[in-house]
Amino acid sequence: MSGPIILYDTTLRDGSQREGLVLSLADKLKIARRLDEAGFPYIEGGWPGSNPKDEEFFAAARSMTFRHARLAAFGSTRHRSHSVETDPNIRALLEAATPVTTIFGKSWLLHVTRVLGATAEENLAMIGDSVAHLHAAGREVIYDAEHFFDGYKADAAYALATLRAAIAAGATTVVLCDTNGGCLTDEVADLTRAVAAELGTETTLGIHVHDDAGLAVANSLAAVQAGARHVQGTINGYGERCGNANLVTICANLGLKLGLATVPDGSVLGWLPELSRFVAEVANIAPDAHAPYVGTSAFAHKGGVHGAATERLEQAYQHVDPALVGGQSRLVVSELGGKANAAWRVRQLAHLMTDGLDPAELSRLVKQLESEGASFEGADASFELLVRRRHPEYRAPFRIVDFTVLVERRNGAESRAEASVKVEVDGEVLHTAADGNGPVNALDLALRKALGAFYPALDAVHLVDYKVRILDGEAATGARTRVSIETGHETGTWITAAADANIIAASLAALHDSLEYAIWRLDAQPERRDERTSSRIAIARRDERQPAEEAS
Ligand SMILES: [Zn+2]
Repeated sequence: MSGPIILYDTTLRDGSQREGLVLSLADKLKIARRLDEAGFPYIEGGWPGSNPKDEEFFAAARSMTFRHARLAAFGSTRHRSHSVETDPNIRALLEAATPVTTIFGKSWLLHVTRVLGATAEENLAMIGDSVAHLHAAGREVIYDAEHFFDGYKADAAYALATLRAAIAAGATTVVLCDTNGGCLTDEVADLTRAVAAELGTETTLGIHVHDDAGLAVANSLAAVQAGARHVQGTINGYGERCGNANLVTICANLGLKLGLATVPDGSVLGWLPELSRFVAEVANIAPDAHAPYVGTSAFAHKGGVHGAATERLEQAYQHVDPALVGGQSRLVVSELGGKANAAWRVRQLAHLMTDGLDPAELSRLVKQLESEGASFEGADASFELLVRRRHPEYRAPFRIVDFTVLVERRNGAESRAEASVKVEVDGEVLHTAADGNGPVNALDLALRKALGAFYPALDAVHLVDYKVRILDGEAATGARTRVSIETGHETGTWITAAADANIIAASLAALHDSLEYAIWRLDAQPERRDERTSSRIAIARRDERQPAEEAS
């Protein structure tokens, strides 16, 4: 069996087992659509026999057109005491009406006897019947051999017999699973090679591993080198316990390190960062900045020595050209880095500056601001704004004229927060107020309400993460606080940061940067909304009235 390595995505099924990850029906459909656009040939949508949401997913997916992907429903072999015709799980699989059915069964006698309470022969019959029934119904059947490696170590002949039962019944792909995720890489390689030799080239061999020993990516690659052509995993490695094999990392390694063609097309790896971020966004999990290949820190160089060397010779401190995975190297701007870091960043931002900005001057400025508590490390959007704002032609898209935040608790009730802001755009001032579950939330809402009236494009921008760090803990409650905000849009995420002794002021400054950056990034132009005009007049009247009222 040759041809490209086939990637099979199970983010929507196995990936959603991750603690804290909840995907709504709409989320699942969104991710499926994006995986299809990326070119995935298989998308496992869920386990229709296990929960109603997965059944709804398959019902909704029937009206969608997939350009590349074949949708797979996942489920177990028939129950020991049911016939295939009456087994509710098998019925649900058929009702899902997907072109592909992935059925899992037991390869490990320990599980057969102790978990299923079946005999070795009964289990083979359960596998054969289930696969044959689905195959006869016109489905492409993929067979997942659960706990295969552990089963093979315990009884190789029996583990192989389970695969043969599935193949004889019509399964065209059999997948070796390290369900407990504890196998070492050489074991996976040796066993996969042995199975490949036993099965010959008629059947496609697959691999599905979990990351409990931190080896899921390595084990998947080893299996491919030993003969597997089908690789199951999840975007960003989401999954139960320590996660599944990370398809993003696998895809990059297959293409860039092993020179193997993959479906989706491994020669165009530029789509990986975007896909990784998109799924993180939809799953509402902060993207891992340190993820291989696609994290924002994947090609970030911090130390002064590395920084200086990277400036001279980019390949010196990175294993691949970041451009191959849609990224670029980045030097972390911080006091640990020397002048080269700042100089290099300035050069990367050169397109922003026609008059140029002296790197030495910028480096001095960064150091001075950082000595005052600012920290641009990881906050590339704030750094970029720092550079942009020094351009003689830069015009701020808005100005925060003033703000008020009120936090109160009355009679032991829950505390509430209210914020009001006055924002000026193009000489017009808008005054808005909002309630929030805390002062920063209220401020964020009020600021967005004001800016959203001028820049409706900001409606699609949202807060991804908000972090607070105490800079000088010795000063206790008088300490300076660094606030960093990650903001998301469907085109990506960016991080801004600010520091101040006042946590509200630091938050507002970071929010300010975040939204100013968004306006620039989205190339948003101020718009006039009818509501805005009317509310502005009302507000203006109220503003005019206030001094008089105060006077009286
Ligand atoms: Zn799994």
